[in-house]
Amino acid sequence: MKAIRVHKFGGPEVLQLDEVPDPTPGPGQVVVRVRAAGVNPVDTYVRSGSYAMLPTLPYIPGNDAAGVVEAVGAGVTRFQKGDRVYVVRTTTQLCGAYAELALCDAAMVHPLPGNVSFSQGAALSVPYGTAYRGLHHKAHARPGETLLVHGASGGVGIAAVQLARAHGMTVIGTAGSERGRKLVHEHGAHHVLDHATPDYLQRLMGLTDGRGADVILEMLANVNLQKDLDVVARFGRIVVIGNRGSIEINPRGTMGKDAAILGLALWNASPEEMASIHAALGAGLANGTLRPVVGQELPLKEAARAQEAVLKPGAYGKIVLIP
Ligand code: NAP
Repeated sequence: MKAIRVHKFGGPEVLQLDEVPDPTPGPGQVVVRVRAAGVNPVDTYVRSGSYAMLPTLPYIPGNDAAGVVEAVGAGVTRFQKGDRVYVVRTTTQLCGAYAELALCDAAMVHPLPGNVSFSQGAALSVPYGTAYRGLHHKAHARPGETLLVHGASGGVGIAAVQLARAHGMTVIGTAGSERGRKLVHEHGAHHVLDHATPDYLQRLMGLTDGRGADVILEMLANVNLQKDLDVVARFGRIVVIGNRGSIEINPRGTMGKDAAILGLALWNASPEEMASIHAALGAGLANGTLRPVVGQELPLKEAARAQEAVLKPGAYGKIVLIP
């Protein structure tokens, strides 16, 4: 099969198209013919060699995919050849999706409803899993509460907007481009702010009658964490999802409000939590409340361009690779 491989950590140019042996499923495993692979920011951190968990070289990048079951191993009864599925992850964490075929444990594969395209399916695992875990497992968000999705135009942000809107929350989302703000509004945010303007969080205080946001899902904590403390409501929860550096904060911001700052790594979700996440996502896909947004589809061989694009401003849903 064709696959993108990384032979040494470095810039996007280390992503090369190789011919590699097809995987065969062992007991309890399935091989998925990949129709679309999701490109996540974490793929770039791993490729550069700066991430906490690094694979053995050479490796095939990518975590998220959707496609059709190609072969099933002994003992697999949930799937048969030809089933449409999305992949939560392959047998090697954070690896293996930028390829024509992906080897997965059957438990890490879920049915893809007929109303969801393969490209949309490749936008599910990391983005929707993270948004769900942030909202429900970490912040314990309640209907009627106000949510700030600080960075709502990308993969995780759009997922959070849709999940929170369906959950009965008042949703405020931010984006840095006009196109992104329109998208965030179309996908359910009641109010949309521009995080590139100086006074946008004063507007949030106005929109909440001075109370602030009960829950904040933060995509760029090294820029925003102090601002989040300024606009979080009493008993509020700030969930740190994305961070690309350091920041000085005044912890006093947490005290008077009994506010909490909660870290999140999707990889820490237990098997039970992962099962609950994907049961909820399956229900949301089936009833149409979850509609992943694919902003860009690129051929597999253009993985380097896709990884450059995912770090640029002006996010618009997901970028996916088509083998
Ligand atoms: P993405 O699709 O590239 O989107 C990035 C988002 O950040 C966009 O909405 C972008 O908005 C926004 N942003 C840019 N500047 C901002 C600012 N000053 N304030 C607030 N938001 C800003 O990435 P993603 O897949 O949604 O992931 C978002 C972050 O979460 C990444 O850092 C990723 O590594 C991280 N993440 C962490 C986990 C975990 O387990 N903790 C899981 C998934 C993702 P504009 O482009 O419109 O400016």
